[in-house]
Amino acid sequence: SARDMIRHIFHILILCRERNTLTDFFADKPTVKGVFKMVKISPSILACDFSRMGEEIKRIERFSDYLHVDVMDGIFVPNISFGMPVISSIRKTTDMFFDVHLMIDRPERYIDDFVKCGADLITIHYESTAVPAAVLKKIRACGKKAGLSIKPKTDVSVVLPLLPLCDLVLVMTVEPGFGGQKFIPYTLEKIKKLRTMLNEAGLTTDIEVDGGV
Ligand code: ZN
Repeated sequence: SARDMIRHIFHILILCRERNTLTDFFADKPTVKGVFKMVKISPSILACDFSRMGEEIKRIERFSDYLHVDVMDGIFVPNISFGMPVISSIRKTTDMFFDVHLMIDRPERYIDDFVKCGADLITIHYESTAVPAAVLKKIRACGKKAGLSIKPKTDVSVVLPLLPLCDLVLVMTVEPGFGGQKFIPYTLEKIKKLRTMLNEAGLTTDIEVDGGV
């Protein structure tokens, strides 16, 4: 069932986050990519060995559709991950689609920089800016795909007026900024509601899910 499939994907994502290297997990699963025609796999770079990022990416390329790049600023979320110089460096090592998830305060300050360092999709948080529509438009004006994310406690209906500006909506199933958290069950209802909203609006916007099992 679709529910089992989603659980399976969550399982893959949480395993990726918990392992020291992505490749340990993918090593014995050569057919993950392409198994689910409607589902894309976007492993988070946070799970890799940061001293060997280039190699780690090379080894997951054929198993993954996107590379999920989590950027944290220590303000919008308590943790700090990495920024533009790191993304620029790994951009030189791969042609993978960079799915950049900005967990940063007022992302409008940095869209040009993230475009320059090689993002293909830039997802901003609804809660991180007073001008989400302008930021989404800016991302698209740069020729990149635009995503909008909501935290677990944010009502999914806030995205409705912004849907025409989004290529993707990212529903967080844990509070952003910490690893190893338990999946928050009520977020499944938000995904369901979002699917209904998109169907009713006749939109083909992708739904992305980020969080624990
Ligand atoms: Zn993320």
